[in-house]
Amino acid sequence: MHVIGTAGHVDHGKSTLVEALTGIDPDRLKEEKEREMTIDLGFAWMAGEHGEEIGIVDVPGHRDFIENMLAGVGGIDLALLVIAADEGVMPQTKEHLAILDLLQVMGGVVALTKVDLIDDPDWLELVILDVSETLQGTVLQEAPIIPVSAVTEHGISEIKSQIYEQLNHIESRPNNMRPRLPIDRVFTLSGFGTVVTGTLIGGRIEVGDTVEIQPISVQGRIRGLQTHQTSRQTAEPGSRVAVNLSGINREMIKRGHVLARPGMFKGTILCDVNYRHLINSSAPLKHNEEVKLFTGSAEVIARTRVIGDRQIDPGATGWLQLALREPIAIAHGDHYILRRPSPPTTIGGGKILDPHPGRRHKRFRQDVISHFETMAEGSPLDVLEQVLVRLEPILPQSLISKSGLEVGEAKDTWQRLLDQDKAVVVGGYAMTSTGWINLQNRMVSLIGDFHKEYPLRLGIPREELRSRLDIPTTLFNVLLEGLSAGGQISVTGRSIKLHHHKVSFTSDQQKAIDQLLAWFAENGVNSPSVKDAKNIVGEDVFTALIEIGEIVQISPDVVYRQTDYKAIVEQIRTFLLENGKINAAELRDLLNTSRKYAIALLEHLDDVRMTKRVGDDRQLL
Ligand code: GDP
Repeated sequence: MHVIGTAGHVDHGKSTLVEALTGIDPDRLKEEKEREMTIDLGFAWMAGEHGEEIGIVDVPGHRDFIENMLAGVGGIDLALLVIAADEGVMPQTKEHLAILDLLQVMGGVVALTKVDLIDDPDWLELVILDVSETLQGTVLQEAPIIPVSAVTEHGISEIKSQIYEQLNHIESRPNNMRPRLPIDRVFTLSGFGTVVTGTLIGGRIEVGDTVEIQPISVQGRIRGLQTHQTSRQTAEPGSRVAVNLSGINREMIKRGHVLARPGMFKGTILCDVNYRHLINSSAPLKHNEEVKLFTGSAEVIARTRVIGDRQIDPGATGWLQLALREPIAIAHGDHYILRRPSPPTTIGGGKILDPHPGRRHKRFRQDVISHFETMAEGSPLDVLEQVLVRLEPILPQSLISKSGLEVGEAKDTWQRLLDQDKAVVVGGYAMTSTGWINLQNRMVSLIGDFHKEYPLRLGIPREELRSRLDIPTTLFNVLLEGLSAGGQISVTGRSIKLHHHKVSFTSDQQKAIDQLLAWFAENGVNSPSVKDAKNIVGEDVFTALIEIGEIVQISPDVVYRQTDYKAIVEQIRTFLLENGKINAAELRDLLNTSRKYAIALLEHLDDVRMTKRVGDDRQLL
């Protein structure tokens, strides 16, 4: 299904031409009939080449109603630009052309109307030349220019065949399962209730569907559907549709709202966009300027934030963040137009890059500008992948809401990234597959670096590794498990080492160690102090000996060889099993040592929860 939108200066014969093509008078309002002028959108349809119907949106040509025009040209496939042969190109024609150009309409046909009023063939030739020059450099530069007359019917069939020809080259609006109807009219019909109309894009809707109106987030059900005044069970993307809604009050809805599936869109008051400032704009677009934004059928006051530049000059392009006075429902890739409120003029437009940027951007940061560039150039898949690269690891639902894509599209695209093995979910977090591999490599190389930096340490403390990687704990744990199951790393106590790593001592260090161990062996329970031990082997080797379990430090002062420590603990345990309790003096006598060692041991055993203190005694816990 296709929809054509008309454009052209008032009185140039648009409505008459539409009637000649369709048999329908598109001027529906009484007021319009009386003033013989289209002031709001008119609708009609004509038969296509193969009997299908082609919708036509007839928009007002008068400059006072250009903003009504903008509500109608959103979803059109083809433009029918109307220029009266007796008047030629008017300023209004140029403004309409600029708008069609900014909206990147896919094709067009130019109707040179009222040719019956022209006697002089040279004049006609001049007008055609002028028109074709005006079209140069716009989306309509290839559009055929057809002289027509509604009076003599000259050229009408030629217009039709040109429309068919052009539409043959325009693909039907894609059905991406995310139907969206920007609402351009709301009214009530007695016996039916609320009816909204618009040009359906993005997917099919069906009688019985539950739908949601955004940005007001109100749900209702489709009670009936009409296309071109015929009731239907379903409506296809690319068609003009009237939707009869149940459960939604007419008063709640207005032009500019969007009908969609629940949860697919949400309103926004901030958006990132690319922007082209029209060459004939009277002044540059300034930062913090108040403008009117038109997109879909919506119109809203906005304030500009010019990103990456001080201002945007006539003819130049740039990036903007627009702060909207009221929420609207928009999607990545939607076209929009900006107008200055006074004097009311169209000044430029572009595409929505990110409908939910989430925060105000700094104006002159390179990372912000690069983000705009990707959002502008990439497919949804590229965009989502880029955002993931920038934010990974990130929870999938945050990725979807921060992607800038509309929720439904983001969800589908996320699934595609997973299906194509471009992304993975680890420990609940979304990562690119490359990012996940890099993270594993980064962990291995961080541990390796630690070994190089501290050859005497058994491994890197778990918490230190996690904070160096700077990733969430659940992800860290999965990473750790994976790498240790794969045999690349091993986890011993609180430290993590590469599987093959061993603490190795130089021969001098080994000599000192042997000396220390001999001293321990000689003295048993009355071991050399921590200070003495460090004096012999040095601080680092001392720590290494503790880490590899050669010695055990039980207090700031007291340290034992592992074997002695075990024997002493066993001796105390046996005593306690036999006697039920022990005090410091008894322990001193039992071990034949001093009070210093006895107290350090008792306190240590309390700490490791082997014993508890009861008065002056210790008992097994
Ligand atoms: P619109 O404002 O562009 O929709 O213009 P209308 O269709 O209302 O036409 C404006 C006036 O031009 C009306 O009085 C029409 O009767 C007249 N008109 C439209 N088409 C033709 C044509 O082909 N030849 C002549 N002679 N008059 C026309």
